[in-house]
Amino acid sequence: MMQKVRVVGAGLAGSEAAIYLAQKGYQVDLIEMRPKYTTGAHTTVYPAELVCSNSLGSLDLLSASGLLKEEAITLGSTLFKIAKKCSVPSGNSLSIDRFGFCEEVKKIIDSYENINQINEKYEKIDSNIPTIIATGPLSASELANNVKEEFGKENFHFFDAIAPIVEKDSIDFNKAFWASRWDKGSADFINCPMNKDEYEKFYKILTTAQRAPLHDFEAGYFEGCMPIEVMASRGIDTLRFGPMKPVGLFDKRIPTEFKKNQFYAVVQLRQDDKLANLYNLVGFQTNLKWGEQKRLIQSIPGLENASIVRYGVMHANTFINSPEILKKTLQTKKYENIFFAGQLTGVEGYCESISTGLFAAINLDRYIQNKSLIELDNQTMLGALIDYITYQGHKKLQPINSNWGIIKEVEGDKKKLKKDKNLKNQLRSNRALEEIVKIKRLIED
Ligand SMILES: Cc1cc2nc3c(=O)[nH]c(=O)nc-3n(C[C@H](O)[C@H](O)[C@H](O)COP(=O)(O)OP(=O)(O)OC[C@H]3O[C@@H](n4cnc5c(N)ncnc54)[C@H](O)[C@@H]3O)c2cc1C
Repeated sequence: MMQKVRVVGAGLAGSEAAIYLAQKGYQVDLIEMRPKYTTGAHTTVYPAELVCSNSLGSLDLLSASGLLKEEAITLGSTLFKIAKKCSVPSGNSLSIDRFGFCEEVKKIIDSYENINQINEKYEKIDSNIPTIIATGPLSASELANNVKEEFGKENFHFFDAIAPIVEKDSIDFNKAFWASRWDKGSADFINCPMNKDEYEKFYKILTTAQRAPLHDFEAGYFEGCMPIEVMASRGIDTLRFGPMKPVGLFDKRIPTEFKKNQFYAVVQLRQDDKLANLYNLVGFQTNLKWGEQKRLIQSIPGLENASIVRYGVMHANTFINSPEILKKTLQTKKYENIFFAGQLTGVEGYCESISTGLFAAINLDRYIQNKSLIELDNQTMLGALIDYITYQGHKKLQPINSNWGIIKEVEGDKKKLKKDKNLKNQLRSNRALEEIVKIKRLIED
């Protein structure tokens, strides 16, 4: 008798997980609701459909996305292998023939007699069978409601209004300064001050910048979410009394009489990751086009050369509060045989979803085999992503894609490495792949 396992959602994460588990000899129930029910974004009947762009990002090992792919390929990813087979010319990035890709994934799934494809909507978590839940950012509401019942309704988010994140190293601290409002607690915020002239220029860019279109299934959420451009359209001073209020923020390098306001407006940045490499712009959730966001952010004093690792976006996105719900093995804290994978965990992007699907399957297999489960540390890109989504210190977890800011620094001459980004990334990449090779050996043991 083959041991039975269940994978819910035949998207990117679920397809990768189901194939891995089938290769390991399990009887896999792969439950997918399409085409009986729709997500609103998928348009085909195929597994592993790419809902938007056909790019899986860079292949360069000196890029965060390239490293993540290489790690997953080393660990045995099938979907990245198929993606390479279905690639279309796009320089050093991996863009694919989307239909060729999902047809090929389907062929492989169909070829496994031990994958039982069930065309149903999964509505209720059942811990009698070891399960990976990978129902993605557009998970059916019945399951979403059950996740809320099981793990607490505050541990489930429906909508993503994300503020941009920048790398701390790219901030000009001749202009920016550390402080917390009214000097309460430690000076944890980075503050970018503006005079009246600078604020008015910023305001003009903000209120004339182009916005990204919203999908129909997202439009209903828009008003409740209040992106910064909507707030700004309510009056020139709205932001100065909201997220950009200058009161109580003092740059100690400037002598101030009677602690009057030193500045006309201030943009604050809050620590975003455990390593304190990344900072998000407080209250700057936005739906502007990415080029416009860059123009806007780089008009802020101190952020002229900001390296933006994540842009603001707004779209329907269900994700769980992983710091409360998940272990670093992607196993739930509540049920050790229930795992989550893909975008539902709070990672963002095709490659991130595939990679976490693979990782959850590796650990589900090890769980069933009574082997120690694998926890990756943040020397690897996959480990850094999982470390990020399970980190307890987030005020509120926001989805994250692979980027260099979340990975542990390498040892060495700090000045030299800051100057030579290629060298720094080469070292980080080598270190990560060495670690992943060790993990691969462990899995094969
Ligand atoms: C509109 C939109 C555009 C995006 N564009 C991009 C992009 O261009 N590039 C990028 O890198 N990322 C993009 N993403 C983010 C993300 O990478 C993709 O959504 C990715 O497909 C997530 O992979 P996944 O496996 O977690 O979920 P999915 O690929 O969405 O797979 C989840 C599957 O679960 C099924 N399902 C849902 N609920 C149930 C249920 N209760 N029972 C059974 N089956 C169920 C769904 O039908 C689906 O097939 C986008 C997301 C959205 C929503």
